[in-house]
Amino acid sequence: MISPTLARVEAARSCTGCGACAALAPEKFALSLSDDGFHRPRQTAPLDDNEEAAFAAVCPGRGMSQPRAEGEDDPFWGPVVGLWKGAATDPELRRNASSGGALSALLMHLLHTGQVAHVVQTGAGDIPYGNGTVVSRDAASVFEAAGSRYAPSSPVAGIDSHLAKGEPFAFVGKPCDVAALRAMARRDPRIDRLVPYMISFFCAGVPSLKGAEAVLQRMGCRPEDVASFRYRGEGWPGPARAVLKDGSVRTLTYEQSWGDILSKHLQFRCKICPDGTGGAADVVCADAWECDDEGYPLFEEREGVSLVLARTTRGAALVAAAQAADAIEMSTARVADIAAMQPGQLKKKRLALSRLLALRLMLRPVPAFHGYRLGAAARSAGLIANLRSFLGTCRRIAGGRA
Ligand SMILES: Cc1cc2nc3c(=O)[nH]c(=O)nc-3n(C[C@H](O)[C@H](O)[C@H](O)COP(=O)(O)OP(=O)(O)OC[C@H]3O[C@@H](n4cnc5c(N)ncnc54)[C@H](O)[C@@H]3O)c2cc1C
Repeated sequence: MISPTLARVEAARSCTGCGACAALAPEKFALSLSDDGFHRPRQTAPLDDNEEAAFAAVCPGRGMSQPRAEGEDDPFWGPVVGLWKGAATDPELRRNASSGGALSALLMHLLHTGQVAHVVQTGAGDIPYGNGTVVSRDAASVFEAAGSRYAPSSPVAGIDSHLAKGEPFAFVGKPCDVAALRAMARRDPRIDRLVPYMISFFCAGVPSLKGAEAVLQRMGCRPEDVASFRYRGEGWPGPARAVLKDGSVRTLTYEQSWGDILSKHLQFRCKICPDGTGGAADVVCADAWECDDEGYPLFEEREGVSLVLARTTRGAALVAAAQAADAIEMSTARVADIAAMQPGQLKKKRLALSRLLALRLMLRPVPAFHGYRLGAAARSAGLIANLRSFLGTCRRIAGGRA
């Protein structure tokens, strides 16, 4: 019998592809690539009552909770203990990484100081433009995995095998991956003991693998000819870059690859997500853009700058220690300044409630979101913007486009 939780998530089209289901019951869920290019679970055997309850409690397609804030709880940006702008001090890492390389520099600091034995993160998978979960034990592997990969990833799926090693590790995932792992920690005490740091990044949504194939098509190459692929890096924002098997290189600018193509291939769940900013993480990194109203950089290319947000005191202590060790260079930033760097995330948070209410009104199942201050965020958008967003979502549902 199909799990009621999975049935509901499928009906709501709210699977994030994180892999928490496969982590909870590996013999009963198999993750594979769906026809539309996302990671999706297939149930192969019935769940018992305990498994069903655990699945319902941790699946971010069923619901998510933002943990209680240790410091300020901003209606748009969530729990904030510390906020900085800056970059990795290593210029090569800064150039190789997505923004300023702060996220990778923090991971390297954790490995270097022996606070973790390894890092569970996402790198290139079997398909060069797809993703796989990788275990990094040294700075070279973290360097290799740096950079944003705008394709489906499921880093929670194999978490049990990492926990079974019994050694502390850092986890890097999308906001939904970290929310799932935080929820799993409430049921599995090994997680708080062995995962001292959960690190995330601002996330506008996961594009289908079909998006990457469309990027390759625009580059004028076939998927089977690609030897390696980067979505970003080598500058800020950095181009999408395919190296073909014959050694030739094809590139597209960030605006062409993300703006024209990838952002049009986002999974539905991401469009209604109120947690694009990683509310459950210890530390979250993002682009400290100087950008237009749509969130695109106002410059061609320059040295990357990361926005670094500590959500817990533990996360803030990590940032301070990495700064003291000269792994990152940071200056403090103000919460009021984030909106200008991330207008897309601001809009998404402000309109999340109107979108969710529209889905409810149209009798569509929706995930339950707790602790995200959606009412306060919606009030700040004003009546007209909320009404427009509500009616627009209703229209898209009625027209079969949501
Ligand atoms: C799908 C997606 C959407 C994003 N949307 C936004 C946004 O709206 N606003 C914004 O400011 N930033 C966004 N980012 C993040 C941004 O591109 C940078 O990753 C972030 O600014 C950190 O930069 P950095 O140089 O410090 O990180 P880096 O040092 O480059 O490290 C990046 C880390 O992210 C991990 N990673 C990369 N791709 C994935 C993936 N698909 N799943 C899980 N882990 C992954 C890598 O393993 C690495 O550990 C997005 C990233 C992704 C993957």
